[in-house]
Amino acid sequence: MGKNYDFIIIGQGIAGSVLSWRLIEKNIKFLVINDSSKINSSNSALGLYNPITGKKFVETWNSNEIINETENFYTSIEKKLNKKFLYKKNIYRPFSSKKDSNDWELKRESKTYKKYIEKLNYQSKYKFLKDSIGGVTTNRSGYLDVKKFLFLTKKYLQNKSLYIENNIKSKNIKSRKDHIEIINKKTKYLILCRGFYENESEFFSWLPFNLVKGENINIKIHHEIKEIIQKSLLIIPTKKPNEYSVGSTYDWENLNNKVSEKGIKNLKKKIENILKCKYEIIEKQAGIRPATKNRRPFVGFHPNNNKIGIINGLGSKGISLAPYCTKVLIDNIQNHKNINREINIKRYISLY
Ligand SMILES: Cc1cc2nc3c(=O)[nH]c(=O)nc-3n(C[C@H](O)[C@H](O)[C@H](O)COP(=O)(O)OP(=O)(O)OC[C@H]3O[C@@H](n4cnc5c(N)ncnc54)[C@H](O)[C@@H]3O)c2cc1C
Repeated sequence: MGKNYDFIIIGQGIAGSVLSWRLIEKNIKFLVINDSSKINSSNSALGLYNPITGKKFVETWNSNEIINETENFYTSIEKKLNKKFLYKKNIYRPFSSKKDSNDWELKRESKTYKKYIEKLNYQSKYKFLKDSIGGVTTNRSGYLDVKKFLFLTKKYLQNKSLYIENNIKSKNIKSRKDHIEIINKKTKYLILCRGFYENESEFFSWLPFNLVKGENINIKIHHEIKEIIQKSLLIIPTKKPNEYSVGSTYDWENLNNKVSEKGIKNLKKKIENILKCKYEIIEKQAGIRPATKNRRPFVGFHPNNNKIGIINGLGSKGISLAPYCTKVLIDNIQNHKNINREINIKRYISLY
């Protein structure tokens, strides 16, 4: 038998990467096993975190705690690695109608929303945007350079011999009396962070996933936008001058990571609704969000095995939910704190 670990994590997307850093912080002995030939949805994410989302611009669940955790977590890893990957940026949301602007006026008076509203503008802010009646600027948002964060995490783990490449199938996982055995290694806890692949696994396929494909593109325009723009799609600055990530689409039927004509057409239509200027598409990508039926993550332990855990169902909010969910899981194991019902997989025990 090979080495003994306290934790083995399967998957190095955003969930597995953030969990690794949590274990490093606590000096816990662990190993990450990842199959990088598989689709990694985190690599196609735009990286946005944002407390006000959806068509109706509502405050997201538990947003205060989740945004605080997001910013504190990634900033602390930036300091540790002496690298930059988290960018705090306001969002400028052009009004789509007079009614939209009136709704934001009302939001400014509400206790819930006024803390997020930086400014209401009643005239165009950018000459190359279709924002003739103005827009609202909101705060407590930003984006993570996800590819960079994942790359640096992998490099760090590899340098410390905490990462191996392997495709872990259910038959590789053997439950013993007081530990889990997996490809010749022993661990006290096995945490599955396999993203949308978990939908077909032996252990957790009973959970109500609602997978959704997403596509986005990178474009070049001859103008500088310092903040994030949101109007039926997102335009997020990248590190490269005049280059922006733009997305995303939602497709519940064609669950693959192939860029489609339909997806690109959809994005172009939305871009024309916001940009007045010419743009050039320079990159296209697609991925599958591990979304859930009730839009809350899946955190907890298998009903028949309290050593096999899961962090999944991060949907379209993986960047902000991963720091929160990993903290809750570790607090549960180390400090016996309850996993709150909203995210605990126990809420679906009747489906098992
Ligand atoms: C187009 C698009 C845009 C998005 N934009 C945003 C955004 O702006 N903000 C946001 O917060 N979220 C966004 N998301 C959602 C975000 O990408 C997901 O919530 C997140 O990637 C889920 O991360 P994960 O770690 O659960 O899964 P993944 O990132 O898919 O990671 C799973 C990992 O497990 C590995 N794996 C799977 N099976 C095995 C196995 N059997 N053995 C070994 N390894 C295995 C895979 O190789 C992979 O590395 C977007 C998603 C898409 C598709």
